[in-house]
Amino acid sequence: MSDAASDSAGLAAGVRWDLSDLYPEPAEAAIERDLDAAETAAKRFAERYRGRVGTLGPGELAAALDRLESLLEPPGRAGAYASLRFAANTALPAHGALLQRVQERGSAVRNAIVFFQLEWVALDDARVAALLTDPALVRRRHLLEAMRRHRPHVLSEPEERLLEELANTGERAFGRLFDEILAKARFRVHEGGETKELSEEETLSLLYDAERERRRAGAAALSEGLKQHSHVLAFVFNTLLQSKATEDRLRAYADPLAARHLSNEIDAASVEALLSACERAFPLVQRYYRLKARLLGLDTLLDYDRYAPVGEKPASVPFDTARRVVLDAYRDFSPELAELAERFFERRWIDAELRLGKRGGAFSASTVPSVHPYVFLNYTGTLRDVMTVAHELGHGVHQTLAREQGLFEQDTPLTLAETASVFGEMLVFRRLLREESDPKTRLALLCGKIEDAFATVFRQVAMTRFEEKLHAARRNEGELPIERINALWLEANAPMHGNAVGLSDDYAWWWLYIPHFVHSPFYCYAYAFGELLVLALLRRYDEEGAAFVPRYLALLRAGGSAAPAALLAKLGLDVTDPRFWDGGLALLEAMVGEAEKLAEA
Ligand SMILES: [Zn+2]
Repeated sequence: MSDAASDSAGLAAGVRWDLSDLYPEPAEAAIERDLDAAETAAKRFAERYRGRVGTLGPGELAAALDRLESLLEPPGRAGAYASLRFAANTALPAHGALLQRVQERGSAVRNAIVFFQLEWVALDDARVAALLTDPALVRRRHLLEAMRRHRPHVLSEPEERLLEELANTGERAFGRLFDEILAKARFRVHEGGETKELSEEETLSLLYDAERERRRAGAAALSEGLKQHSHVLAFVFNTLLQSKATEDRLRAYADPLAARHLSNEIDAASVEALLSACERAFPLVQRYYRLKARLLGLDTLLDYDRYAPVGEKPASVPFDTARRVVLDAYRDFSPELAELAERFFERRWIDAELRLGKRGGAFSASTVPSVHPYVFLNYTGTLRDVMTVAHELGHGVHQTLAREQGLFEQDTPLTLAETASVFGEMLVFRRLLREESDPKTRLALLCGKIEDAFATVFRQVAMTRFEEKLHAARRNEGELPIERINALWLEANAPMHGNAVGLSDDYAWWWLYIPHFVHSPFYCYAYAFGELLVLALLRRYDEEGAAFVPRYLALLRAGGSAAPAALLAKLGLDVTDPRFWDGGLALLEAMVGEAEKLAEA
C-alpha cells in the first residue's frame, strides 16, 4: 500500500460515481412520488387480479406479469439509489434513514401483490402445464416455472406479509448494523513505534505487503479490532443464524443450504460434487504453499504470509493505469465488451476512491433495466485491486447485456453471477503474462493469480463448510459463544491448509468480518463454481478462437432467463457431471507446476 492510500482518498482520488441517472439531487421528493405511485399501482393490481389468477388465460397472465414488472421498477430504482448512497457513506444518518424508509415502503408494495405468486403456485399441475405451452407465455415460462418450485415452501398470505414486514426490523436491520460497525471501525496498526488508525480495507491490504513486519502488524491490528467489536458482531451472527433457522423451519426447508440451492437452480448433489472435488484437491493448495514458503525464504508460512508478493516489491498502480490495462485486455477478447466497460469510466458509473464511512469491499449493482449498473470499489493500487477492477467490470458488462431480460430475469442465479467477473480477471491476467518476458516477474504474476484462484475456489469451499458447521451448531447447541465459533472456523480451515500454513490463534477471529455470512448465507460456493466454470470456458475459447466470443456474449445476454445448466449446455458444458470440475482443477495444478518450474529456473 502506498503512503498516499493510508492518508486519504488514495490512488483513485476523485473517482466518485454520479447517481443522478437514478435520481437527480435532491432525490427524496422524487423517491417519495415513485413509492406513492407504486403503492397505488399495487393496490389497483390487487383489486383487478386478487382471487382470479387461476382463471386467467395465457394472454391475460402475460399482461398481468407485464404490469407487475412495470409497477415494481420504480421501487427497485428507489431501493438501488438508497443502498448505493448508503454504501458510499454509511456514516450519514440520512442515508441510513432513507434506506430504511425505502425498505419499509417496498415491503408495503410487495405485500400488496404477494397474493399473485401464492395463487400461481397453488394451481394444479395440469392447468399449469396447459398454460405454459401457450406461445403467449414463452418469454415468461422460466419465471413461472421457477416460482412453482417454491410451492412446498410458501406460507399463507397473512404469514408471508408478516415475515416481509418484520424482516425490516429483523434480518435486514441486523445486516445494516453489521455494515455500519465495520465501516466505522478503525484498526490500530502498530509499526516502528508509531500507531496508525486504518479502515478495514486499508488494514486488509497490509496482508499483501512485501515486508513481513507490516503484514504481521496488519494481521494483529485486524484481529485486535475484530476482538473489540466481537460482542456486537457475534450477537449479529447469532441472531441471524437463529432467524434463518426459524424461517427454514416455517418454510419446511430440509437443511440450511436448501433455500440457497433452490434460488441457485442447482441440486444439492451437484454442489456436493463441486465441494468434494475441491476438497480432494486440497493437497495441491499445500503443495503451492510449500513452494511459497521456499520463495519467501521462510521455514513456516503463517496465515499472514499467504498473500505476500513474490519477488520485488511491486509498485503501486495508478487508477488510470488499471483502467487502461483492464480495457485493453477486454478489447483483445471483444471490442464490444471493452466498449461497454469503458462507459463505466466515462460516464461516472464507478466509485473507487477511499473515504471515511464508505463500506468496505467491492461490488457491481445491476439496479433496474431502465438505468444501468454501478460499480463500487475501494481502490488502494495493488495488483490485486487491478484484478478487482477487472472483476467488477465483468459483473458490470454482464448486467448491462442482461438488461434486455427485464426486471425479473436480468439477474442470474449466484452460480452464474461470477462468470463474467472471473472471466474478466483471467483476460487481464493472461494479457499481463503474455506481455512479460522476465521470468521473475512472470513467476510473481503467476503466484498472484494462483493465490487469487485459491481464494476463489478452495477458500470459498472451506467457508461453505464453516457455514454448514455454524448453522448446524446454532440449531443443535443454541446460542453460540464466540470461542465455539472461533473453533468451528479453525476446524473448517484446517483441511485446506494442512501443515503447510500455520494458522495462529488470531486467525480464529477472522470469520467476523465476512459480509457474505451475514447478507447471503451460502453465497460462497458460487465463487468456486464460477472460477472452475470460467477455466472450462477459457479452454473452449482456446479451442474455438473467435467463434467462441458471440456464444459467450449470448450467455451473458441471457441473464437469468433459463436455468444455469440449460444455458451452459448451449456452450457444450455439462455442470451436472461430477467430473466436470476436475478439468478446471487440472488447469490450476498446471499453473502450480509452471510456478515450480519458474522457481527453479
Ligand atoms: Zn463478484
